[in-house]
Amino acid sequence: KDIRETLNIVVVGHVDHGKSTLIGRLLYDTDSLPEGAIDKVKQLAKEKGKSFEYAYLLDAFEEEQEQGITIDTTQLQFATDKRDYVIIDAPGHKEFLKNMISGAANAEAAFLLVDANEGVQEQSRRHGYILSLLGVKKVYVIVNKMDLVDYSEERFIKIKDEFETFLNNLNIYPIDYIPISAYFGENITKSSSEMPWNRSGSIIEIMDTIPKEKDLEKKPLRLPIQDVYKFDDRRIIAGRIESGTLNVGDEILISPTNKTTKIKSIAYWADRDKNDTASAGMSVGITVEDEFFNKRGEILSHIEDAPIKSNIFNANVFWMGNKHLIKNKKYKLKLSTKEVECEIITIHKIIDASTLAQGDFSQGIKKNDVAEVTIKTKEMICFDEFSNLQTTGRFVIVDDMNVSGGGIISGIEDSLQNRE
Ligand code: GDP
Repeated sequence: KDIRETLNIVVVGHVDHGKSTLIGRLLYDTDSLPEGAIDKVKQLAKEKGKSFEYAYLLDAFEEEQEQGITIDTTQLQFATDKRDYVIIDAPGHKEFLKNMISGAANAEAAFLLVDANEGVQEQSRRHGYILSLLGVKKVYVIVNKMDLVDYSEERFIKIKDEFETFLNNLNIYPIDYIPISAYFGENITKSSSEMPWNRSGSIIEIMDTIPKEKDLEKKPLRLPIQDVYKFDDRRIIAGRIESGTLNVGDEILISPTNKTTKIKSIAYWADRDKNDTASAGMSVGITVEDEFFNKRGEILSHIEDAPIKSNIFNANVFWMGNKHLIKNKKYKLKLSTKEVECEIITIHKIIDASTLAQGDFSQGIKKNDVAEVTIKTKEMICFDEFSNLQTTGRFVIVDDMNVSGGGIISGIEDSLQNRE
């Protein structure tokens, strides 16, 4: 395959710690700006009597977008020799959380920016918390504005130690800490001579070493059943393979009913041609050796890589409904092809997605809140932890016929674990 690999990175951090400057720098230093953008921005700054800022480059993208040119400010692209990158620059926390939980954005790694001079601030901590909530594990702490502290190693280590303790408590173990000056371009593309003590390399060198998630087809097989059709005397199980690879002859498990059988035939739904193998992203129609009664919502997997089976799990929910999400009320939960009645049995914690402040949940979860909850479903369902497999680890909640919230599964208590 000569398709270039793409990695999605989100940049977060306290306001004014240099997110836009860093993104502008990365675009500039990798020659990824639209033609003339830099001159235009310099000209504009001059006219307004301001000095040039790399951060203004992002505004230039925004302007282009307004003129109908298709650049999405929230998804900026650039390339190194090795691969392509998409930088996710959400306009606010709310949008970022909503996009991540709904699957509209998918951050594989995160840059958490800290100002070397100001140090770790309230929002730096809250952003750390959000990353842990979303299960983003590849976190890099970028210590910016090193020029303001005379490129002092001592200062860098102090910030690193302070932040590390906090992040470790959230179960975040940053892969690396990188000192830079986004404004002066120090340690961006190549190691900075101002910081000979830095052993990590430049930000771009480190980016190119971030391991890419395994391809979806190499992950555990998940084929949620969409429908079962009867043709002649055969039953054809139809669905879309969400992850993994399926072969004729494979022994498979059907969850949560726990039946095992063998794959007899596979046809791609699109052209009905028979095939021996199919993988993630394909809609297929299969037949199996033992024709049990299978139904929509069940999930096919390999026996050794089964999904979790439970009727109680912990989740992080983003609420969009006008009516509060409350405890002990019946809602409909949709997870891949499964629809089931559910209720919130415990609300553990609530965060206002715009300010990231902790909220009061005596009245339930209000619009634009993010909450850590425990959910109980009326019957056993099967799913995955979002951080392992996204498509079967994500769900929506329906209230009065409207999709009113999205959630990701963070896990189940050990005592609730029911893998068979
Ligand atoms: P954001 O709010 O996180 O996007 O922050 P900006 O990128 O807009 O930067 C805020 C201010 O910090 C701007 O005035 C930048 O010029 C300044 N700034 C950003 N990076 C650096 C840096 O590396 N060194 C210094 N001295 N100033 C910086």
